[in-house]
Amino acid sequence: MTVLQALPAFEDNYIWCYRGSEGASIVVDPGDAGPVLGAVANGLRIEAIFITHHHNDHIGGLSALRGTFTGAVFGPEEDRIPGIDCIASNGDVLQIPGFQPFHVLAVPGHTRSHIAYTDRDVLFSGDTLFSLGCGRLFEGSPEQMLASLDRLAELPDDTLLCCTHEYTLSNARFAAAVEPINPDRDRLLEDIQARRLHGRPSLPSRIGIEKACNPFLRTDFPESLSGLKQYLGFMPESRLARFTALRAWKDQFR
Ligand SMILES: [Zn+2]
Repeated sequence: MTVLQALPAFEDNYIWCYRGSEGASIVVDPGDAGPVLGAVANGLRIEAIFITHHHNDHIGGLSALRGTFTGAVFGPEEDRIPGIDCIASNGDVLQIPGFQPFHVLAVPGHTRSHIAYTDRDVLFSGDTLFSLGCGRLFEGSPEQMLASLDRLAELPDDTLLCCTHEYTLSNARFAAAVEPINPDRDRLLEDIQARRLHGRPSLPSRIGIEKACNPFLRTDFPESLSGLKQYLGFMPESRLARFTALRAWKDQFR
């Protein structure tokens, strides 16, 4: 098994397994127990489970996995998640045997209690930052989501982005509508299309790649959002207004 493994679940989810130096793994957002139990049968040892937010496609497998490991389930303070052993809050540092310390970041926007986990090498962003996109705003404001994305964009450029959905190719169509010319994205797309053709995940991405290609991380640069200007008929003045308009456009982009 490689250090990072994406177990496919449902239509387009990934359950990430991250193996530490002692051979046991952290499992992130097991929405379905089936793929994880399959991996356990093939030798996966679970040291801990990380939950990013309460949506069922991220927590649905928790109860069925309970008997398969002795470690803890970490997750945000949230009544809608049964089975959390250790509340993980913004600024917490988690010490998991066999791993570097994990930092917990509050990243509200997709949901109000969404958190992310990073050891600086890897970021588990749940449904906040996707490759070439970001999560829908089910409970948070554009302001909150923009601040959350800003926090993630501050991580080192080579931090591996492990998000929970295979949305990259459809996100790329929107990114191309927003920013028609972006050679970095063209190179990324070539790589991703090859991976998908062979049935491999488009992920993980990297923070530096996302800063160069993901329109939701590029609201600082109005010149990179020419498609937005064309769509609206004007360029919004502030980056928050640009982000808000981008997110609203994406919500009904087909
Ligand atoms: Zn979600």
